[in-house]
Amino acid sequence: MSPPVPKPGILDIAPYTPGKSGAGITGRVFKLSANETPLGPSPKAIAAYKAAADHLEDYPEGTSRVLREAIGRTYGLDPDRIICGAGSDEILNLLAHAYIGPGDEAIHTTHGFLVYPIATMGNGATNVVAAEKNFTADVDAILAAVTPRTKLVWLANPNNPTGTYIPFSEVKRLRTGLPGHVVLVIDAAYADYVSRNDYESGIELVATTDNTVMARTFSKIYGLAALRIGWMYGPANIVDALNRIRGPFNVSAPAMLAAAAALEDIAHHETARAHTEQWRTWLTDEIGKLGLTVTPSVANFILIHFPQDKGRTAEEADTFLTQRGLILRALKNYQLPHALRMTVGSEEANRLVVAALAEFMGRK
Ligand SMILES: *Cc1c(COP(=O)(O)O)cnc(C)c1O
Repeated sequence: MSPPVPKPGILDIAPYTPGKSGAGITGRVFKLSANETPLGPSPKAIAAYKAAADHLEDYPEGTSRVLREAIGRTYGLDPDRIICGAGSDEILNLLAHAYIGPGDEAIHTTHGFLVYPIATMGNGATNVVAAEKNFTADVDAILAAVTPRTKLVWLANPNNPTGTYIPFSEVKRLRTGLPGHVVLVIDAAYADYVSRNDYESGIELVATTDNTVMARTFSKIYGLAALRIGWMYGPANIVDALNRIRGPFNVSAPAMLAAAAALEDIAHHETARAHTEQWRTWLTDEIGKLGLTVTPSVANFILIHFPQDKGRTAEEADTFLTQRGLILRALKNYQLPHALRMTVGSEEANRLVVAALAEFMGRK
């Protein structure tokens, strides 16, 4: 008798490896490897989460109505065109599940988020990689990668792990150049951090087309990564398809209530945004002064490039920082072996990283 064999494609997937958590290191640890906020969630979200503990015996309301309405109020969107998920990861997987299968192709860019190939291959479809230019999505390269088999395009804007973005005019040019039956997924997990007037998160394009969706998360600026809560705004036809295949109670009650409360705390959101902008600029400048290249970022993390000479490599820097309790993200599985990604942390963490990197670069 032979054992069960997963469907074609499944065993070709390289399992997702999360950023190091710092477990095993003695002393204080600053985890700057997973783009979590140093400010934590809003106290209002924590209170709503605790209040939900009084009713853990009840199933949650199945459509996340409370949260969809809160999102609708915050962003001026129709709650019927919103679907919530257990993290935006679930949304991305639902999209792949609904729209791609064996024989189909889905495109992402060179340094695209690793969940994309997992969702693509997990549904038996073929993963196609479009080259980036200057660590930035290149619309011409994506359009050149389109074949008659293309069914879906994954675009993180801003992109993780590079921190770069493409302006709204380029996203529109991408949409216009793609065949109408291709789903364009705009993953705007870091939209809250962008302050550029040529950027648009995706809302406008979703509102005016029937083949574009925007995914958002409460894991980053709202500080609710532990609860697994994200959402998508899409055209009625795509929202309808996903609602047919999602679990009937896919979002937990504590998650939807905490997220709804988080949306109401505008001051907390603004504090987190301003903190990130201030320290992202500071880190980019200070690390640049050490002779390292930092890719200009619009998100809550930066990409630091290291030389390839012995004693100065990304791998050695990673070891050096880790020994000091400073946990950054190595990016070998993102085709970036000579770079580390650093989440913008607390003032203390940021200063410690710059001091440690100065010591690392000054070593004989
Ligand atoms: C963090 C992140 C997400 C959000 O994932 P969740 O499942 O909502 O925690 C989505 N896309 C990208 C590119 C990310 O970096």
